[in-house]
Amino acid sequence: MPHYRWLIIGAGMTGDSAVKGIREVDATSPIGLIGAEPSPPYNRPPLSKGLWKDQHLEQIWRDTPQVGVDLHLGCRVIQLDKTGKSVVDDRGTVFTFEKLLLATGGAPRHLPFDTTGNRIIYYRTVEDYRRLRALVGTGQRFAVIGGGFIGSEIAAALTLNGKHVVMLFPEAGIGARVFPAPLATMLNAYYHEKGVEVLVGEVVTDLRMRGEQTILTTQGGREITADGVVAGVGIQPNDELASAAGLPTDNGILVDELLRAGHPDIYAAGDVARFFNPALGMRLRVEHEDNANTMGHAAGRNMAGQAAPYHHLPFFYSDLFDLGYEAVGDLDSRLVTVEDWKAPFREGVVYYLKDGRVRGVLLWNVWGQVDNARALIAQPGPFRPEDLTGRLPA
Ligand code: NAD
Repeated sequence: MPHYRWLIIGAGMTGDSAVKGIREVDATSPIGLIGAEPSPPYNRPPLSKGLWKDQHLEQIWRDTPQVGVDLHLGCRVIQLDKTGKSVVDDRGTVFTFEKLLLATGGAPRHLPFDTTGNRIIYYRTVEDYRRLRALVGTGQRFAVIGGGFIGSEIAAALTLNGKHVVMLFPEAGIGARVFPAPLATMLNAYYHEKGVEVLVGEVVTDLRMRGEQTILTTQGGREITADGVVAGVGIQPNDELASAAGLPTDNGILVDELLRAGHPDIYAAGDVARFFNPALGMRLRVEHEDNANTMGHAAGRNMAGQAAPYHHLPFFYSDLFDLGYEAVGDLDSRLVTVEDWKAPFREGVVYYLKDGRVRGVLLWNVWGQVDNARALIAQPGPFRPEDLTGRLPA
C-alpha cells in the first residue's frame, strides 16, 4: 500500500504547480501524483492555440518527472476515505496520505443526442488534439459546436490550417457570454471574413454517419456534413469524489482561504475549486491557466506548511486570429459594460460594472495593464460609466 506524505489527485497544470509549491518547502518527502490521463502533466493552452501555429508537441510537456515525484498515470481514483486518509484507484490500489490535494479539474459536457459517443471530439486533452490533428490530415470540412473559448479558438486554428469550418452556437455572437453585444457581433463578421461559416442562434439536434463523414442536423433544419466535429460546450467540475466523501461541494469543491476543502488535511485547487475572492466579495470557480498555476502552487505551499491566504484574482487571455486580449475579474456580458475604444473593436478597454464597482476588465489588444485592472477592481468606487473612460491606457 503506497503511502505519501503529499498525495495529489489530478496530473494537470494545477497538480504540477502544486508539486513545485511543495518542493519549494520540502525538498525530499515522497510526493505521489495520480492522473487519469495516460500523459504526464502538460500545458493545456497550446492544444487550441500554439500547436496550430508554430509550436510543437514536444514543447508542451512540463518538467514534473524531473522534480522528484512518483507519477501514477492512467489511474482514476474512485473513492476517498477522509477519516482513514486513503484513496482507492480503479485498479484497486489503496494510497494513504498525510495531506491530500484534489486537483481533479473538469470534464467536458457532452451533447444529449450524441449516443454513439465517438464522432464528436469534446475537446480538452492532448489525446483530443492528436485525434483532431489526424482528422485534419485527411479531412477538409469541420463543424465546431459552441461559441465559447474552445469553439472560438479551434474554429480559428482549423481555418488557419486551411480547413473549411462551420461554427454554430445558441448565442447571438461569438463569446457572447463574455463580450458586450457589439463586440460579439463584430466577431461574427470578423470570423466570416476569415472564411468561417458562422451560424448564430443555432444548435445541433442530431447526428448520423455516412462512411467517414458525420452529418449534423440543426434545430433550424440545416444539414451539415463534416469530416470532423469538435464541441466545446463547457465543462463540469469533477467534484463527485469530494461530495461522496462528505466534503462540501456546490458546483465545485468549496475551499477556505487556505484552500482546505472542509478537512484540515485535504485541499482543493484549480478548475474544480470554488474559492472566496475578497476583491470581488464572492466565491469564484475559475477555469483558466493562471488560476490553475497560481492556485496549484499556493495549495502546494499551504499543504507543506507555508500557509498563506489565496487572494489572487486570476487573469485569462485568448487569441482569435489576429486579435488577442487579456482579461481579469467577472466578465459577464449581462453586467453594465463601458466600452472605451482607441480603435473600434481593434484596441481598447471594456469595463464591467455592477452597483458602482468595477467587476471585470477586458483588455482588447491592450497589454501590460492586468495589475492596474486588478487594482481598479479592488477599489470601492463608486464609479459611474463616465468615470471609466480613459481610466486605463489603451
Ligand atoms: P465555455 O464555457 O467557454 O463555452 C461554452 C459554450 O457552449 C457556450 O458559449 C455556448 O456557445 C456553447 N453551448 C452550450 N450549449 C450548447 C449546445 N447545446 N449547442 C451548441 N453550443 C452550446 O466552454 P468551452 O469553450 O467548452 O471551454 C471549456 C473550458 O476550457 C472552459 O472552462 C474554458 O474556460 C477553458 N478554456 C479556456 C481558454 C482560455 O482561457 N483562453 C481556452 C480554451 C478553453
